[in-house]
Amino acid sequence: MTGFFARTAARAGATIGLALFPSRCRVCQSWLEIPGERVVCGACLTQLIPERSPACPCCGTFFDGAGESHYCGSCLESPPLISRHRSYGRYAGVLKSLILLYKFQRYSVLAGILADRAHAAFRKDEDLWLGAQALVPVPLHPKRERERGFNQSALLARELARKCGLATVEKALIRTRSAPPQSTLEAADRAGNVRGVFEVRRPERIRGGVIVLVDDVCTTGATLKECAAALLGAGAGEVRAVTLARA
Ligand SMILES: [Zn+2]
Ligand SMILES: [Zn+2]
Repeated sequence: MTGFFARTAARAGATIGLALFPSRCRVCQSWLEIPGERVVCGACLTQLIPERSPACPCCGTFFDGAGESHYCGSCLESPPLISRHRSYGRYAGVLKSLILLYKFQRYSVLAGILADRAHAAFRKDEDLWLGAQALVPVPLHPKRERERGFNQSALLARELARKCGLATVEKALIRTRSAPPQSTLEAADRAGNVRGVFEVRRPERIRGGVIVLVDDVCTTGATLKECAAALLGAGAGEVRAVTLARA
């Protein structure tokens, strides 16, 4: 009975909380009326579904139209440094709204929701998790991290690692230079912008292991590629990647 009373009290508390501090869904602006709803309403969350299009299992690029997943021409021609990359969805709609709210308006509660969805979508992907030793978030430069207040990829990686039962290795891969945000640059300039900006400071933490990089959005893949180069150069056995969205 104790559990019953505790649950009832918690539900009542949540309801009172909603009544005293009514707030709106930050995506569709409807009132959050259901106990437990925070930042985003349940209706918006039902629109958060993993991309169903076929994709290249290696670089994760989604293909338009139906069909089976298959290696893309570019991965067949020259295998990339990242051996397997999965993205939850395209950078659009509710997924994009949630990532923007999470990253730029610091709704850190969304990290749990997004990691939960990514975990549900990828947990059965053996080629992604087999032998994985640790998750490594794409690092921010300390200056940018101070400005933003947190590293969105690190928080995601921690949430995802907890669900996967894996460790997160942070501060082993670091960003040595504060380059302009990739989102402010044209695609052609992005590779040069991040070239050589990542370094492994504590190679013993990644040496010989299968590392899964975690980032929020992948656009050209230049950032992940540079991270992979640094990790492999410092002795990582293999590098894979999970991202929330592909722009
Ligand atoms: Zn909503
Ligand atoms: Zn590919």
